[in-house]
Amino acid sequence: MSNPDVEVLVVGAGQAGIAMSEHLTDRGIPHLVLEQQRIAERWRSMRWDSLVANGPAWHDRFPGLGFAELSAGEFASKDQVADYFAAYAEQIKAPIQCGVAVRSVRRKAGAPGFQVSTSSGELSARYLVAATGPFQRPVIPQLVPDDAGLLQIHSSDYRNPQQLPEGAVLVVGAGSSGVQIAAEIQRSGRQVFLSVGPHDRPPRSYRGRDFCWWLGVLGKWDAAAPEAGAEHVTIAVSGADGGQTVDFRKLAEDGITLVGRTNGFHAGVVGFDSDLQRNIAAGDASYSALLDEADAYAARNGLDLPEEPGARSVRPDPDCLTAPLQELDLSAAGVTSIVWATGFAVDYGWLQVDAFDAQGRPRQQRGVSSEPGVYFLGLPWQSRRGSSFIWGVWHDAKYLADHIAIQRGYLAHHELDALVPEPAN
Ligand SMILES: Cc1cc2nc3c(=O)[nH]c(=O)nc-3n(C[C@H](O)[C@H](O)[C@H](O)COP(=O)(O)OP(=O)(O)OC[C@H]3O[C@@H](n4cnc5c(N)ncnc54)[C@H](O)[C@@H]3O)c2cc1C
Repeated sequence: MSNPDVEVLVVGAGQAGIAMSEHLTDRGIPHLVLEQQRIAERWRSMRWDSLVANGPAWHDRFPGLGFAELSAGEFASKDQVADYFAAYAEQIKAPIQCGVAVRSVRRKAGAPGFQVSTSSGELSARYLVAATGPFQRPVIPQLVPDDAGLLQIHSSDYRNPQQLPEGAVLVVGAGSSGVQIAAEIQRSGRQVFLSVGPHDRPPRSYRGRDFCWWLGVLGKWDAAAPEAGAEHVTIAVSGADGGQTVDFRKLAEDGITLVGRTNGFHAGVVGFDSDLQRNIAAGDASYSALLDEADAYAARNGLDLPEEPGARSVRPDPDCLTAPLQELDLSAAGVTSIVWATGFAVDYGWLQVDAFDAQGRPRQQRGVSSEPGVYFLGLPWQSRRGSSFIWGVWHDAKYLADHIAIQRGYLAHHELDALVPEPAN
């Protein structure tokens, strides 16, 4: 390490680490960002080939730079997003060292700050920001044994349909990843079964405005927690093909067989919950509620937005929805692979401080952890719904930089005080 004493160490140079660097620089706070691989690595190597951003280029970006090669309404490809963050880091001259993994962080005994062990040596940091991402460790439920005789991969390892063996595919999970992957595999000519759990399903756009805009003006990106009584559910949106509303009836019309939540496996047969109709109905209800709120907002504010009655028409229920499969004999159905689009967990094994609850979840408020000097950034719902997304993390980083600046102010006051001689009695 060229400078073993760091004021603020930021771990991870995805969008969160870069946003943090920008706000620390704005406040004149010295810092270093360590990234184990490359800038925005997860956009480069943990996402499928055809992925584009879920939000349009005007929305899924930081305030200080646009996507030069895209019009406002276009959706950046995953590589364009990664290149964007690399360019952003260069623009703000972020002090990033790539190829350095942080292996352990421990609080120093009897001295402020942390002892940090990295793949390139030891360093000491006064403050630490964990910006290692909301989606670190792929989660595959232990339902189908490894020796079941078929390929099982997580969505983060899915790249394209050619990667899968010939045959039908079961995609488990119908958030943004699952629906896009299922549609792509189906378009490649395979038979696809899509296991659909609870989800929200906003319209891609309504009355000429993208859903990102509606969630913004309706205050939903800023919601501090899921609405009372509602659990957080995955959101099914897609920027693929120029951006289309996720419509499960349309997916079924195209040939995908919808099934309920996958709940077990026995003797080559996968079982499904009988919740498909309920999940689709709840998704439909979330869709209609957003249209209602959008209409009310437009009326209240006198917005001259074109009416869109067609947005409320519903396709007929497909057979797979009226009489859902309860189970699927995988070999009889020709299923040779399962793609688990079942989400991620965090992994803070390297951060050996008192900042976690019994389940290993960060104990934090708006990113300020229970361990003084340790901060988290980019967590889902860290301060608001938008916290783990591109635009939201930038605002959370600003809050953390302010917090660090305030704490440094207290420390500077203490040090100044210590210099003043005690008054003589
Ligand atoms: C499939 C998918 C699509 C998404 N699409 C969108 C979208 O369209 N719009 C949107 O706003 N959000 C989207 N998101 C959500 C979110 O924006 C991304 O997950 C984003 O990558 C999170 O950025 P981050 O910087 O918080 O974390 P990451 O991008 O995960 O970055 C963390 C970095 O930390 C590094 N790191 C981890 N551990 C260490 C260590 N010990 N030492 C050093 N470095 C370390 C990693 O290598 C990584 O580069 C998507 C998420 C997924 C999974």
